[in-house]
Amino acid sequence: MDSTHFRTCPLCEATCGLEITIRDGSVRRIRGDRDDVFSNGFICPKGSTLGTLHDDPDRLRRPLIRRNGVHVEVDWDEAFAEIDDRLVPIRKQHGADAVALYLGNPNAHTIAGAVFGRPLIQALATHNLYSASTVDQMPRHVSSGLLFGNPGAMAVPDLDRTEYLLILGADPVESNGSLCTAPDFPGRITSIRQRGGQVIVVDPRRSRTAAIADEHLPIRPGTDPAWLLALIHSILRDDAHRITLEHTGSLESLRSIVAPFTPEAVAGFCGIDAVTTERIAGELSDGRRAAVYTRIGTHTARHGTLSSWAADVLCLITDNLDTVGGMMWPNPCHGRPEVPGRAPGGRGFRTGRWASRVSEHPEVRGELPVAILAEEIETPGTGQVRALITVAGNPARSTPDSSRLTAAMEQLEFMVSVDIYLNETTRHADVVLPPPSSLEKSHFDFAFYGLSVRNVANYSPAVFTPDGPGEHEILARLALIISDHGPQADPELIYGLVTSTLARQATDLPGGPLEGRDPEELTSSVAHLDPPERCIDLMVRSGPYGDHFGDAPDGLSLEKLIDHPHGIDFGPLEPRLSGILRTTSGTIEVIHDAIVDDAAVLATSLEAAPGEGELLLVGRRHVRSNNSWMHNLDVLVRGRERCTLLVHPDDAERLGLLDGQQALVSSRVGQVEAPVEITDDIRPGVVSLPHGWGHDDPGTRLGVARTRPGVNSNLLTDGAVIDPLSGNAALNGIPVAIRPR
Ligand code: SF4
Repeated sequence: MDSTHFRTCPLCEATCGLEITIRDGSVRRIRGDRDDVFSNGFICPKGSTLGTLHDDPDRLRRPLIRRNGVHVEVDWDEAFAEIDDRLVPIRKQHGADAVALYLGNPNAHTIAGAVFGRPLIQALATHNLYSASTVDQMPRHVSSGLLFGNPGAMAVPDLDRTEYLLILGADPVESNGSLCTAPDFPGRITSIRQRGGQVIVVDPRRSRTAAIADEHLPIRPGTDPAWLLALIHSILRDDAHRITLEHTGSLESLRSIVAPFTPEAVAGFCGIDAVTTERIAGELSDGRRAAVYTRIGTHTARHGTLSSWAADVLCLITDNLDTVGGMMWPNPCHGRPEVPGRAPGGRGFRTGRWASRVSEHPEVRGELPVAILAEEIETPGTGQVRALITVAGNPARSTPDSSRLTAAMEQLEFMVSVDIYLNETTRHADVVLPPPSSLEKSHFDFAFYGLSVRNVANYSPAVFTPDGPGEHEILARLALIISDHGPQADPELIYGLVTSTLARQATDLPGGPLEGRDPEELTSSVAHLDPPERCIDLMVRSGPYGDHFGDAPDGLSLEKLIDHPHGIDFGPLEPRLSGILRTTSGTIEVIHDAIVDDAAVLATSLEAAPGEGELLLVGRRHVRSNNSWMHNLDVLVRGRERCTLLVHPDDAERLGLLDGQQALVSSRVGQVEAPVEITDDIRPGVVSLPHGWGHDDPGTRLGVARTRPGVNSNLLTDGAVIDPLSGNAALNGIPVAIRPR
């Protein structure tokens, strides 16, 4: 007898609806949910593999403890007791900073990561907090913090209504979108063109997204901020009389920042001629609805924050920020409701409240750059990292100069990993705690409804019952152990703390719909639910569309979400700048010393034309990959080799490389050997390797991935090159040398 389940795919940011057919306790079929209010049946090759992932024999079902160098299965009590015995004394003897925490990207895709990671962070109270954010999107957080005082409020392109989409450093046809939740991103791009709009892709490589765009500009890697500043320069020069600048603070200061970046001055540096730059500036400012979407290739660079800032300023000065068809802010159903009459503004945004011990990098959003984790482990002294907890992360593959971090992990006195696989990182762990599979836990996209091109919501119950503790319980028990409550402490202590905090946030909001209500009334009304569901119910009922615990009976609740298995659509995005502004001035704050200084540093590079024989390494995505962690599914890795080094024919001829031949690629920090793929899709002087590969380390349990290992591109990326404003690693534009093997 078949049963059908509808749930949101948790694998990437697109949040597609899935229809899952179960027969005899196994997944029989997964296809796109045609009735999903947002994805309308769209699915990518990864979405149909949730059953394969659930059944993967290499997926860990029981905890592991490393004994004499070998990982052996143990029961949960023994695993938690081992952590209590070995981690707590390190913290007591050497202090809180001796224990580091690394949170991987999948934490953004789970309820536990979104809600129950916070108590663990608070319990650790360590300055050594790291995450995948500093090899990804931290520049976007910082630019939103500077401009709007709100690092969590990242504007997204209003894809379905824009007439002009300028994309830099993103390949959403492969990635399915990032910092922009839009199922069927390719279809939405096609629709822009079908309704008479234009799509321009700026990328060193003619990606699949560039292939379906109107125009592709093959920019030189790492020069995006100079080109974006040149666009602003051109607009200020030609159209200043039309620009509404009530929010920008100082037009003269903005002019001064962009003064060196004339279209002519950046042409040689960026590889885009001045006439083209001026034309694009004119198209952005001619009154049509336009959006500027920057992503990973632009952010994972030395001036990533400057690029992100410039992209939003471009939209601001062309009246395309917080306007229909431009860059807009979603209003997520679990977010803070807007309070009518409340003056915009808040406490503003600061970084650098502390600095890293060894190289004194400033904290950003409570985190240090993961590129410096190795030196914090290696360098003796007070505050040296002696123990590490990783949750759903593989920094041995996803962070720069990863051979150094791998060696550093060997020096740790103790390591705990929460992960479903024994991979290149978790093989170093003394204890591995496996959370349930995606199908064994409920799902709600706390992160991505705040980045969505429509205001939507969907809740998915678990399809299967897990054998072990839920992910929320694992994180809660770790927090209790760290807090010296012991391995047997009741996780309800943490659940109660989380729900009472959420309730108080709702009842303490001045002028909010629940102001003055008793927080205990709210927590008791959700107490019958499982811990993740208590949090969802509390947040959506307190949120902008909520039932406000009876005050708005038709409003949203978890029950209502359960009654709508294909999701609920709250409509297109609406202007809401005043709702997201948290600057101390209550306005957009454009000019900052950090931006002025970083632009001045960039300006000194403009004279540096590409050197003779320059080769710069960039990454790339593939729709069948999800960073490093889905290469153990045969259905996703079979077929043609994907981990190849893309080389332009001119460079191949100059270097004596043949298609299919192995090449030695070396950088300042490392060397890899990869098969050459010659293609004119890549700009001369640029080569590309995908990231997340290199699955041939000893001690892992990745039977399929090991047969198609590929090479680890982060053996080449340089941990010393960091965007100083955000701490983000520069993973693109790495100088390399190449020779035939
Ligand atoms: S695009 Fe993303 S959310 Fe949609 S099916 Fe694929 S992996 Fe899942």
